[in-house]
Amino acid sequence: MSKCYFCQGKTKIKNINVDFRWGDKLFVVENVPVEVCGQCGERYYSAEVSQKLDNLVKRGSIVQKPHQTLEVPVFNWQ
Ligand SMILES: [Zn+2]
Repeated sequence: MSKCYFCQGKTKIKNINVDFRWGDKLFVVENVPVEVCGQCGERYYSAEVSQKLDNLVKRGSIVQKPHQTLEVPVFNWQ
């Protein structure tokens, strides 16, 4: 496909689970087609994918109900 910007490794489209924060909430979207570098693991989100992720999270359950809700343990370092 294309080359990694950082290490020049080959990138490949993979369906991965993407987790990210929005405000104080953590979201996980499963099976997102993301271009991943086979060498360093850098992820490249296409404009289309990041826009869809954005919409999913911003409009949340209006667009699509989450099929699962996970509890995330949060620890304090100190
Ligand atoms: Zn790379």
